[in-house]
Amino acid sequence: NYAIGIDIGGTKTAIGLVDQNGSVRVKTSLPTDQTITPEIMVDRMADTIKNMLVGEGLNESDVLGIGVGAPGPLNTKEGKIAEPPNLPSWWNFPVVNSLARHFSAPIRLENDATAAALAEKWLGAAKEAEHFVFITISTGIGAGIYSHGKLITGATGNAGDVGHFVVDPAAGTCVCGQKGCWEYVASGTAVARQASALLGREVSSKEAFDLAAAGDPMIGPLVQKIFQYIGIGCVTLINTFDPEKLVIGGGVSQVGAPLFDAVKAYVSKHALNPSGRKTPIVPAALHQDAGLIGAAALIHIPY
Ligand code: ADP
Ligand code: ZN
Repeated sequence: NYAIGIDIGGTKTAIGLVDQNGSVRVKTSLPTDQTITPEIMVDRMADTIKNMLVGEGLNESDVLGIGVGAPGPLNTKEGKIAEPPNLPSWWNFPVVNSLARHFSAPIRLENDATAAALAEKWLGAAKEAEHFVFITISTGIGAGIYSHGKLITGATGNAGDVGHFVVDPAAGTCVCGQKGCWEYVASGTAVARQASALLGREVSSKEAFDLAAAGDPMIGPLVQKIFQYIGIGCVTLINTFDPEKLVIGGGVSQVGAPLFDAVKAYVSKHALNPSGRKTPIVPAALHQDAGLIGAAALIHIPY
């Protein structure tokens, strides 16, 4: 018995067939083409899924359901994509109804960070946890919150949009109009922007972290400040949810030990309660196919 996972991203949409143990039996991806309408994109996804089933000698009755992970803001109550900045052509698109024109299996939609959190609970770094927060630090910052053995999704599926916690009101203006949001100062995009401004040339986030590791006198202090910002957001999450652990994923988490050590040191000083100060902070276990497995988890795992 399989779930279809669909992970809609700004540049590509991953589609796969995932079994109840979380193994990806087959997968593919389509470019998320924003020059065509989302209806036509859904037609392409449906064709892809149908071909995939035929190719595997399966039919639709072997599919338990279709899980869709998409960037927020969305509206899971209405089954719609709401206003994701990276998917302007999809705004207000009723993706669940549109898919339901092609398939009779149940369809579930959640934001991608929420789905990734469920995947970490299912197969990854939070298997034993009843209370944890998954944080993704990538193009932006998002989180999936798991508390008392359940995902906290909110009324419309937008809980966990922690990228817009204000951590430094003296910093510049975020897309949301507030100043110094967490993702404005500490996402991969933010690292690249600030490092590029300091050096007067374009540098990527990875390059900036590499320069810091090599002792660059300008970028070293910037990266220390960014680690501190990451720590500030983590302290807020620990103080709010009292989790057993924090799981950090996303491209920036690949910086590894320097980031985790700095964030743990910050948290060990500033989380309010003594147990919170000791919160384990660990890397996500799922990288490849995390989005796809998260989408499939929406079908395989009760939440
Ligand atoms: P997405 O945001 O599309 O989900 P990623 O999770 O890969 O994609 O995040 C992309 C961001 O992470 C970019 O800002 C990129 O520069 C940064 N990034 C990716 N890999 C690394 C790395 N090894 N070290 C530091 N930053 C990275
Ligand atoms: Zn913001």
